Amino acid sequence: MSARSQVIVREVGLRDGLQSIDRTVDTRTKLEWLRGAYEAGIREIEVGSFVPARLMPQLADTAELVAYAKSLPGLTTSVLVPNLKGAQAALDSGAHVMLLPLSASHAHSLANLRKTPDAVVEEIGRIRALRDSSGSKCILEVGLSTAFGCTIQGQVPESEVMRLLMAVLDAGADRVGLADTVGYADPYQVKQLFEKAFAQVDDRLCCGHFHDTRGLGLANVFAAWETGIRRFDACTAGIGGCPHAPGASGNVATEDMAYLFASMGQTTGLAFEKLLALRANVAHWLEGERLYGSVWRAGLPKSMAR
Ligand SMILES: [Zn+2]
Repeated sequence: MSARSQVIVREVGLRDGLQSIDRTVDTRTKLEWLRGAYEAGIREIEVGSFVPARLMPQLADTAELVAYAKSLPGLTTSVLVPNLKGAQAALDSGAHVMLLPLSASHAHSLANLRKTPDAVVEEIGRIRALRDSSGSKCILEVGLSTAFGCTIQGQVPESEVMRLLMAVLDAGADRVGLADTVGYADPYQVKQLFEKAFAQVDDRLCCGHFHDTRGLGLANVFAAWETGIRRFDACTAGIGGCPHAPGASGNVATEDMAYLFASMGQTTGLAFEKLLALRANVAHWLEGERLYGSVWRAGLPKSMAR
């Protein structure tokens, strides 16, 4: 893969970000957020999650967001799906990508999804069968979380991550990403695991998802980029977190990620000033919530073309 091939930044603030915040942002505001991200050049957005509304009322309007996102030309619409029922809702909505979470950590999987990792793999097989029988072209992408360590069980053996990676592809997932949702990864570990995974599954490895919990988010993004990954998740204003790591900061901030790649001369298609304008809006909509990120404080250096 050439150093210059375009980097895709998938905005996941409307899902990963909002699910960790107690307040419910109204649908009109979310549509404005979605539109703002699109106008800033984002071409892939995770708009919500098909989970029961009683568990996550913040995301109850996901179908409406998918419908709007699909009206924006060239935008790939992604939704998170925890089970077969959610997959049916995602297929009904016409979303382009289903993100299926799987914890590599046994303990985290039980706490988060109340299923063992292998039970989730079986569910992925059923979701694949459902997708195929529906005739839909929706892409099934597994997000393998706690791939670098876990707040409950601590270490997650690399051999277990590789086993699950193969298992989900065998079960019918189209592609897979590796995620550090708790900020345990370091750049060296990221490099090693992504290289190993690439060797095993080639371009079916398609995404890096890093939280900035301990300040290594962007360093980890860079390490994964060096191995050839060209698609990353990020949240405007770095929102998000982990229910099992109270007080933890969220995802790598979209605007910081845009800055990282722009400063290295890599194309993302993102308009920096518009990302900062969106960040300012998000700060207003989420007034009182803790936001993160660095670049917004000082803006772009004079040496960088806008
Ligand atoms: Zn996340």
